[in-house]
Amino acid sequence: MTTRYQGKTVLITGGANGIGRAAALSFAAEGAQVVIGDIATKAGEATIRDICDAGGKAHFFQTDVAQAIEVDRLIEKTLALCDRIDCAFNNAGISGKRAMPLAHIREDEWDRIMEINVKGIWLCMRRQIPIMVRQGQGAIVNTASFLGLTGTAIGLSSYVASKHAVVGLTRAAASEYARKGVRINSVCPGFVETPMVNSILSFPAMREKIERMHALGRLGSAQEVVNAVLWLCSAEASFVTGHDMVVDGGCTAKSAS
Ligand code: NAD
Repeated sequence: MTTRYQGKTVLITGGANGIGRAAALSFAAEGAQVVIGDIATKAGEATIRDICDAGGKAHFFQTDVAQAIEVDRLIEKTLALCDRIDCAFNNAGISGKRAMPLAHIREDEWDRIMEINVKGIWLCMRRQIPIMVRQGQGAIVNTASFLGLTGTAIGLSSYVASKHAVVGLTRAAASEYARKGVRINSVCPGFVETPMVNSILSFPAMREKIERMHALGRLGSAQEVVNAVLWLCSAEASFVTGHDMVVDGGCTAKSAS
């Protein structure tokens, strides 16, 4: 166990599974008190148990990040427990149930992606930022995607639009609050093996196609993304704000070439 985050409180949304779960385990292993907000209760509680069994400190609150009242409650409970929020990893997100061309997307499917992926991040930041401003310091990382920087023809236009919005929201928020001690960045993963993409990967032809999109010729692991998040939240990144950090095995570079 290292101590980079000793004495720090880290709030993570979407921490029950995938990248968020890996982040929760890593922040806790580096000494942080971790608070997870996620809609998935069983998986969230399992993550907390795993952290506590390893000697770390963690709490779970069932939260739908698309609901203002639930986000407000998550923040209140975090403050009641920990008194401060040093870092926030706003990571909860969905890709939608099915990939399909733009003209076939249903309005309710479009709205749900935007509510969770974009509004959810705004709802979190609008409560986290004033707390960090009061503290005189804080670091936020929002999960975007390499698809927040490029387009694709694989039927994910609403997801692509939502992640472009995350990158834009992050840059604007970083510009507004940089002089108040709050650094705000986004992380832009390539395809990562998590529950979100497992169903797509079960088709061998699709796995091959996705692997080929990456210059490195493979998918990433959740931990490879988390390594960047831990750095962005740390004092080592003290001159980094408004940055969209690509952790995508060369997807973006390849699509630009
Ligand atoms: P995942 O499905 O494994 O985990 C996402 C977590 O978010 C789950 O625990 C889920 O319960 C939670 N969640 C979903 N809706 C929620 C809501 N309304 N309120 C609270 N929690 C909610 O997915 P992942 O791959 O770990 O994705 C994490 C983030 O990374 C997402 O924002 C996703 O868009 C992004 N991302 C993933 C990949 C990838 O290939 N896996 C690539 C680029 C970006």
